[in-house]
Amino acid sequence: MSNYLKPYAGLKASLLTQHGKESVVCPELLHTNSLEVIHVTGYDTDRLGTFARDIPRQGSQLDAARKKARVGMELSDTKIGIASEGAFANDPYTGLLPWNYELVLLVDDTRNLEIAGFYGGEAQSASKQISSWDEITAFLSEAQFPSHQLVIRPDDEYHLECRKGIGTIEMLREAYDWATNLSKKGDVFVENDLRAHTNPTRMANILKATQNLAKKMVCLCPECASPGFAITETKKGLPCSHCGMPTNLPVANIWSCVRCGCKKEVVIANQISADPSRCNCCNP
Ligand SMILES: [Zn+2]
Ligand SMILES: [Zn+2]
Repeated sequence: MSNYLKPYAGLKASLLTQHGKESVVCPELLHTNSLEVIHVTGYDTDRLGTFARDIPRQGSQLDAARKKARVGMELSDTKIGIASEGAFANDPYTGLLPWNYELVLLVDDTRNLEIAGFYGGEAQSASKQISSWDEITAFLSEAQFPSHQLVIRPDDEYHLECRKGIGTIEMLREAYDWATNLSKKGDVFVENDLRAHTNPTRMANILKATQNLAKKMVCLCPECASPGFAITETKKGLPCSHCGMPTNLPVANIWSCVRCGCKKEVVIANQISADPSRCNCCNP
């Protein structure tokens, strides 16, 4: 894609992170958007909340990303800031698998807009309360250790003290002894470290959210030409092939502008009707 179709070409943005996210965000946005993303340090982003529950996050995932982007812009004196924020839950399909939602946000004060990239995928987020060294070694394959690092704490998941970033068996043994000594009954709680640089599964999800953002950054609003024109909703109602009643299957995508509020409905191509098995009338 030539530069005149890239609204962010030649511009500079900041990325505040202390968890290695620059290794995926910077090359992706340079490659796709010719945007130079500067890695900013000098602020402890853990002050805004951690996954290890020692510092709870205030506000939503979006609020946290926006705050990080603003701090990065201030520290580096840039008008464009990028920040990433993750969240963990159970998967939206069965509710049984650990799931990871990643948000990569671009805050652009030159155009007065925000563009958000999203991705949701499986998480490597195992945890276990254990009472012996043998139990901990049995847990290691479930935790994908050592490619994915661990956090350990005395007693249970609520103990305030913890050791993070455990990536070798020697570190694990040392941390296990430390936690056992501090615990009431010899129990310890061990779990995956969810910080990006200690959890390659999460880092891969951050890359996918960055790719989602990158696509939105080159998509311009047909009315005001702002970047960030993207699908925000789907419209349901694809008719049943048997009875013709509307089903819950999508019939069109709604595209929205992040700046002027323009909306466009685009019918999903190559589909005429829904299978009667998806129809509430034919197959209640
Ligand atoms: Zn029907
Ligand atoms: Zn617009």
